[in-house]
Amino acid sequence: MPNLSDIGSIREVLARHQFSFSKSLGQNFLINPSVCPRMADACARSHTQGVIEIGPGIGVLTKELAERFEKVVCYELDSRLLPVLEETLGDYGNVSVRNEDVLKADLSALCADAFVGMRVSVCANLPYYITSPILMYLLENRFPLSCITVMVQKEAADRICAEPGSRLAGALTAAVHYYAVPEKLFQVSRGSFLPAPNVDSTVIRLTVRERPAVDVQDEARFFRLIASAFGQRRKTAANSVSAGLGLPKSVVEQALVDLGFEKTVRAETFKLEDFAALHKALSPKKGEFDS
Ligand code: SAM
Repeated sequence: MPNLSDIGSIREVLARHQFSFSKSLGQNFLINPSVCPRMADACARSHTQGVIEIGPGIGVLTKELAERFEKVVCYELDSRLLPVLEETLGDYGNVSVRNEDVLKADLSALCADAFVGMRVSVCANLPYYITSPILMYLLENRFPLSCITVMVQKEAADRICAEPGSRLAGALTAAVHYYAVPEKLFQVSRGSFLPAPNVDSTVIRLTVRERPAVDVQDEARFFRLIASAFGQRRKTAANSVSAGLGLPKSVVEQALVDLGFEKTVRAETFKLEDFAALHKALSPKKGEFDS
């Protein structure tokens, strides 16, 4: 089996399989031998037994996961990597690879069928072009995951882990904090990848909450409210929210004043609790639409 901690062996495996990197699939493979053991150790702290890896590439992280967990299931979209993975992971009986788009995978069924009785987590060096869609897919679908330990672009990590209501916070910040408790673990320089990307990376961990951070009556409408607040950052909350939810501005202004805000407050400064309170104040009351 090739030594995946060694850049010479990695280049040799890739050359032998005549592999060329696909930019559109976000293929920047890890070549720094210290990063994968640290990621796998961080994931192990969630006391998980089963791990889902998204995008194993040639299997550098997978190997570390296979050595620490009972079972590892990987989703790899690029079928050219399957023969490579057969070679690099062939000795690990506890690893299986699915040639599927993770964004179409039913991970609830996977957890019920393949990880019976196990706590399951996700560990991955994410393809950067779909970081937000993957995180939202994992969280919104309420798959039974304990935690999500992933490498993302440094700037994405800064936004995801920002405090809701702070300068760096955006709609993704609010959504992640609603479902999970995010934390930054360590940074990884661009030189740790082949080919080297133009940005540095950060490994983050999202510990999934058993219940969302705040109670809301209608999640879809709650997230529409948040999206409208950040979609028009320069506008006042009354303007952006009334446009986003299709409500008269005077109704939103009154709700804001009732909640103790100035009429001219900007919604980007809201914490999750503030969004939840405004959502509640603007929700149709029971019987309001009954004929
Ligand atoms: N884990 C490897 C490593 O750290 O060296 C590779 C990470 S690379 C940043 C991202 C991987 O995700 C690539 O192998 C790519 O082919 C795969 N990928 C991209 N989009 C995917 C998708 N929608 N579903 C599953 N895998 C995907």
